[in-house]
Amino acid sequence: MANERDSLRAPKGTNDILPPGSFRWEALVRLAQDTFEQAGYAPVETPTFEDTALFERGVGETSEVVTKQMYSFEDLGGRSLTLRPEGTAGVVRAVIEHNLHRGALPVKLHYSSWMFRQERPQRGRYRQFFQVGIEAMGTDSPSVDAEVIEVGDRFLRSAGSTPTLLLNSIGHPAADCRAGYNQVLVDFLRAHEGDLAPEDGKRIDTNPLRTFDSKEEATIAVMASAPVITDHLCGACAEHFEDVKAHLDALGVVYTLEPRLVRGLDYYTRTAFEFVWSGLGSQNAMGGGGRYDGLAEMIGGDPLPGIGFALGVDRILLALNDAGIEGGPKVDVYIVAQGDETAAEALVLATRLRRAGIGADLDHTMRGMKGQMKEAARSGARFAAILGSDELAAGEITLRDLTSGDQERVPATDLESKVRAG
Ligand code: AMP
Repeated sequence: MANERDSLRAPKGTNDILPPGSFRWEALVRLAQDTFEQAGYAPVETPTFEDTALFERGVGETSEVVTKQMYSFEDLGGRSLTLRPEGTAGVVRAVIEHNLHRGALPVKLHYSSWMFRQERPQRGRYRQFFQVGIEAMGTDSPSVDAEVIEVGDRFLRSAGSTPTLLLNSIGHPAADCRAGYNQVLVDFLRAHEGDLAPEDGKRIDTNPLRTFDSKEEATIAVMASAPVITDHLCGACAEHFEDVKAHLDALGVVYTLEPRLVRGLDYYTRTAFEFVWSGLGSQNAMGGGGRYDGLAEMIGGDPLPGIGFALGVDRILLALNDAGIEGGPKVDVYIVAQGDETAAEALVLATRLRRAGIGADLDHTMRGMKGQMKEAARSGARFAAILGSDELAAGEITLRDLTSGDQERVPATDLESKVRAG
């Protein structure tokens, strides 16, 4: 039963991102956006909720995300809508709806968005979480796979983490590739059915590949000797995978082949990858992605091959702990006013600095000089600009360097140039 106190608590599995950590959060998202845009990916925003059918068709009716984790609701018009559990289906929908794929290819987009999955909350696993991601649509050229993977790898490294890149190819659904392999896998699973965790035994026929994703120890033990997809790829998929690896080698991107990596969503074809970091414990994936050449058709569009990744911002910051990327307040100058007559002038001065592109803050609560100096230190400002009645009368300001403690009186008109030179 909800009680009154629950309205003063964030819902289970959600987080408030508060200062000072929110500065690092923002710096990480900016770094992602800059890294993606520098490689030619343009920003895209899609709605937070979509038609439920989009995810059922795209993410897949046998995936855990769709069967167990979606936040779906009926709106007042009786439509079934779902808070997005992932970003790719909505982006591909938008590209098709607005015919972006009829222009120059590939269409390269990036997003930074909240995602929603009703999961059992634990460290690194929340019900609302933030992902940054890129999508390249319109070509199945192996070079774009390598580009996408390198961009993700470089972003994570420039943020200060040291991920291991796991790489696999999971073929495509045609009879001579994944479908053929599925039969081999189903035969193997049937032969070992008694040793599998009961939950995993149930989906042998609906989605045998998912068994590799199981967290159940009994199943993990069985899967260690299971046949792997890379031994069963058709000629075209095997060649595609070889080309992706050759491109990555040429770029100096280090990867570990992981033939048991299948990823959790049903739309993946061919290239699949994940960035993991052991320091994260059981939720060790910072993010991952892969090719989704059949997704556009699954959601009702024309064929449109694509590849992308999604990286979890919450998880990356956990992995970095307090190391790596830095972010902080952007106040350069804290105005310290002495007395009523200078208080109004303090806001004028702060605004003048802000308009000149210099970060400035001030006291709005008539603290004493000591209290204001404390606030100045807390603000992270480099300088305190002290404005007493003396200074006001003389058209001057006392500029105090808060690191060295040195101070000098300067003409008020010189403040901007002094701060810039500082
Ligand atoms: P996925 O596409 O499900 O593999 O998700 C990609 C990345 O998003 C994961 O590696 C995590 O970093 C992050 N992620 C996925 N689900 C959650 C969650 N429930 N809470 C926090 N981060 C998540």
